[in-house]
Amino acid sequence: MVARVIPVESFDLVVFGATGDLARRKILPGLFRRLAAGQMPEGARIIGAARSDMKRADFQKMVGEALDEFDPKTAANKALRARFLDCLHYVQLDVATPAGWKALAKQLRADVVRAFYLSVSPSLFGVIAAGLNEHGLATAQSRIVVEKPLGHDLASARALNAQLSTGFGEGQIYRIDHYLGKETVQNLMALRFANALFEPLWNARHVDHVQITVAEDIGVEGRGGYYDKSGAMRDMVQNHLMQLLCLTAMEPPSRFEPDALRDEKLKVIRSLEPVLPEHIVRGQYRAGNGQDSYVTHSENPASKTESFVALRVDVSNWRWSGTPFYLRTGKRLRARMSEIAITFKETPHSIFPGMDHHRNVLVIRLQPNEGITLRMTIKDPGPGGMRLTEVPMDMTFSEALALEIGAVPDAYERLIMDVIRGDQTLFMRGDEVEAAWGWTDPIIAAWEAAGTTPSAYDPGGSGPEDALALLHRDGRKWREIAV
Ligand code: NAP
Repeated sequence: MVARVIPVESFDLVVFGATGDLARRKILPGLFRRLAAGQMPEGARIIGAARSDMKRADFQKMVGEALDEFDPKTAANKALRARFLDCLHYVQLDVATPAGWKALAKQLRADVVRAFYLSVSPSLFGVIAAGLNEHGLATAQSRIVVEKPLGHDLASARALNAQLSTGFGEGQIYRIDHYLGKETVQNLMALRFANALFEPLWNARHVDHVQITVAEDIGVEGRGGYYDKSGAMRDMVQNHLMQLLCLTAMEPPSRFEPDALRDEKLKVIRSLEPVLPEHIVRGQYRAGNGQDSYVTHSENPASKTESFVALRVDVSNWRWSGTPFYLRTGKRLRARMSEIAITFKETPHSIFPGMDHHRNVLVIRLQPNEGITLRMTIKDPGPGGMRLTEVPMDMTFSEALALEIGAVPDAYERLIMDVIRGDQTLFMRGDEVEAAWGWTDPIIAAWEAAGTTPSAYDPGGSGPEDALALLHRDGRKWREIAV
């Protein structure tokens, strides 16, 4: 039974930073695909705002070129393309000055949903929130959308939350973690809470350990300056990996509703034990295999910023006590691959003496090939006695649902339409973000105080040796980083 798609009301969506990279690559092509899918209501308007001196026609031309570049297949439909470009408007506005706000106000209608997407540097988030408030644009019906980095520590996250809340209530603030917009991440919730099969086993009695990996094959090229101030812990663990951990570990919410879900995620973060120094490995890639080192692209040749981090996280509650969660993320690794792997405990007794114990592993793949694999033990076929072997029960969503390539909406498409619908389920609440920083800050402070240098690792591998040792010490091993 296919659920009904909730219709979207007409809206005015203001994209601050509409001439920037994120808007051109993701936001505007994403909106175009929603129009192509028939989800853009009559009269919807997208208003670009940036400092560049442009007329409406220039903006439409720029966006048309972005559609041709980033979604040529859909853009080849001239009628759809023209309909989308017709939704576009442009206001020249330097948010740091008082000029331009009046022109923006004139573009906005009073009787439709109003959303402000801040696709600009985070240093402008507070300026824009204040500007919207001062110029009377932040109405009770309006929504504001921001994306990471949401602060760089607890104090700055609190300051940002305070800035956003001038003019916007918590129910109007949409904090994007685009991982939450991914189909597979939502499928993790469907898998857990719409099937009777897994939930009875989803606890420390039956789960040996959980591994969450977000591996990238690319390095920091071009972003060294930004990354130096961030590092893998701030850039990936505090947000994306933390969200995946929360959705894997949380209790079933009573309803699939924003606050019910976010309350449960918050409880997980509050249950996290402080991480012991021996349970963290930091790494930085060196040069090798014809590839540059991390520091080649850093502004500081002696940078100690980590491009890799692996850690053991213990969730101190009845469900998970004694079952570690191992998190790992890094750049310049063997492959671009993200997954959550739940390794179940061995059977309590083996009736097949002399044979290795096998463990069931449930893998939820975020990328590539979003899907789910369950590793099962079966009899190795053929005569000659009882031998066991492991096989995967593999389900790639696009194959299982016979979807065309590209039919699964991009995370941004889903999230922007959720903003318009007023559904905050897949967005982070302010207290969640603060709690995540509250857990991350002491880890970063401890290694900054110790002044430790990250372990070097070779490009194209699985990270530093110490990361392997982290699991070996616990009698376990990392899953392979491969596609
Ligand atoms: P970008 O390419 O540098 O674009 C910045 C945009 O802000 C431009 O349109 C710029 O246009 C506008 N802008 C700058 N100063 C302004 C001002 N004073 N008043 C009005 N507009 C101003 O940045 P981006 O890569 O798109 O990133 C935007 C945000 O998304 C950042 O917070 C980034 O961390 C986040 N993000 C980006 C990505 C990505 O893939 N790019 C992914 C995740 C998160 P003008 O120069 O015309 O004013």
